[in-house]
Amino acid sequence: PAYRVQHNNSRGAYKGGVRFHPEVNLEEVRALATMMSFKTAAVGLPLGGGKGGVSVNPKELNRDELEEVSRKFVRYLHPHIGPHQDVPAPDVNTDPLIIDWMVDEYSLLTGDTTRASFTGKSLDNGGSLGRNAATGRGGVIALAELLKSEGLSGKPVTIAVQGFGNVGAFFSEVAAGDYPHWKIVAASDSRATIYNPEGLNVLLASEYKAAGGGFSEYESDGVERLSGEKLLGMDVDVLVCAALGDAITADNMHDVRAKYIVELANGPVSEEAYRFLSKAGTIILPGIIANAGGVIVSYFEWQQNIQGEQWTEQEVNDKLAEYLQSAMDRLLETARAEQVDLNLAAYILALKELTENK
Ligand code: NAD
Repeated sequence: PAYRVQHNNSRGAYKGGVRFHPEVNLEEVRALATMMSFKTAAVGLPLGGGKGGVSVNPKELNRDELEEVSRKFVRYLHPHIGPHQDVPAPDVNTDPLIIDWMVDEYSLLTGDTTRASFTGKSLDNGGSLGRNAATGRGGVIALAELLKSEGLSGKPVTIAVQGFGNVGAFFSEVAAGDYPHWKIVAASDSRATIYNPEGLNVLLASEYKAAGGGFSEYESDGVERLSGEKLLGMDVDVLVCAALGDAITADNMHDVRAKYIVELANGPVSEEAYRFLSKAGTIILPGIIANAGGVIVSYFEWQQNIQGEQWTEQEVNDKLAEYLQSAMDRLLETARAEQVDLNLAAYILALKELTENK
């Protein structure tokens, strides 16, 4: 079974990823498509929300079968997608190679040569510089704006990062480069936490993970290895959730000591934990803005394809910062004006965009 849900296109083409996972089902794809409409609206992109998925376990497929599934998805879907209609992207278990097959199939079927029918393509096939790091970089930009509004600009801040995959590692690398007064003292993967009160060397940790290593075997000067769960309860200023959904729930919400939580994963704080932590004074930077860096640079990729341009990485990063700083300004202003927390403010902002600025 395969799905594509087109939730809202009042502000532009439907936009959202396609995932390959055995548990993909219509309810989930529908919820994720709705979330994309909120996300593109909250950050002011001229795009709507959609999502797709194939209920398949890609680990059980060989390369030829994977290519066939990818192309077949487009064979069925092509009348309903396209550069100005619906622009899918990678998501769980789908990568630039899969997207390249999909774009090729779309071009064969329709004659389209812009390659703007999908984003998240490989660099040689119309992808954008800066896309890999975009979600992590966006998280850094959003956090910097939040800390500024809290009077903490330029102040030392300690950070723990849960999940050190694409998003968590890039968040850490960009933070270490752009904000040397922020100290990333802990990071975790699915098995272990690594901790150094003097600050981790995130570049080393990132290289180690990229080479396939796990934190349960990580060794480096001054680094202590702890269990994976220890990270959530650390006495840090900022907790960055960059692993999975529902990382903080009723089971562990009492452990959290950080004043700020950044939602880089989709839905890492459950409804119950969100209510409890907000009441306790924790400030949660909502995912629909904090992790929107990826879809913003997807939009830049689409623009470059349509205009036949290739922007430099610096141009991409500068434009990403403009979009997110402006979204954060609107978010903080909405929270002040409506006297609500940032999560509610993000939904108010998105709903206003969806209903008023069509
Ligand atoms: P990824 O698979 O590259 O990394 C996930 C990391 O989380 C891995 O290192 C894994 O070991 C770790 N992890 C899993 N369970 C854990 C646990 N219990 N404790 C600590 N670490 C754990 O995935 P990614 O692309 O980095 O995405 C991370 C999250 O961000 C996902 O929820 C994804 O939906 C969301 N997201 C990603 C993007 C993007 O552009 N990649 C955009 C928006 C949202």
